[in-house]
Amino acid sequence: MLVDPGHGGPDSGAIGPNQTYEKDNNLAIALALKDVLEKAGAKVLLTRDKDVSIVNDYSELNDLQARVDLANNNNVDLFVSIHNDSFGKPEVHGTSTFYDSRNPKSNESLHLANSVQNAFIDIIETQNREVKQAPLYVLGNTNMPAILLETAFISNPYEEARLQNPTFQKNVAAAIFHGIFNYYKNPIPES
Ligand SMILES: [Zn+2]
Repeated sequence: MLVDPGHGGPDSGAIGPNQTYEKDNNLAIALALKDVLEKAGAKVLLTRDKDVSIVNDYSELNDLQARVDLANNNNVDLFVSIHNDSFGKPEVHGTSTFYDSRNPKSNESLHLANSVQNAFIDIIETQNREVKQAPLYVLGNTNMPAILLETAFISNPYEEARLQNPTFQKNVAAAIFHGIFNYYKNPIPES
């Protein structure tokens, strides 16, 4: 499986009101998720394991394509991208999970998105902003079931502080792990 901490290096991702960077939160959660997945016996690839750009000649498209290539070239079974959400109104908070109907495994992607979103809301108890379909580059161009998780809003001061907390980061990783576990345990519902 491939775990993709969004952004990195010159691309900070969203920046919180206290000048924290999304790229750092994504990496911490991804490292914790890799740890829990490996303890359960999974083979895990990361797109990055430190604060770097994953391409030499950084551009947004090169960066996203490199993430897609890593997943497709290694035939990973799942693609899980970790992000923080951000919005102009600081009171907005909560968690959403995206899938892309263009993905060739979109039914499986939806099942994975539902499994992870439900486990996340059960365990972390953030506001449920639901599973959403959107044309996102890394989800539409990967060949395997793929989701992108917006764990919490870095633009919300309370969630910004939580995202920095190592205990919260570990709990988020555990919740995502439970969602992945349920994905494999439960058959895909009939549509
Ligand atoms: Zn992001």
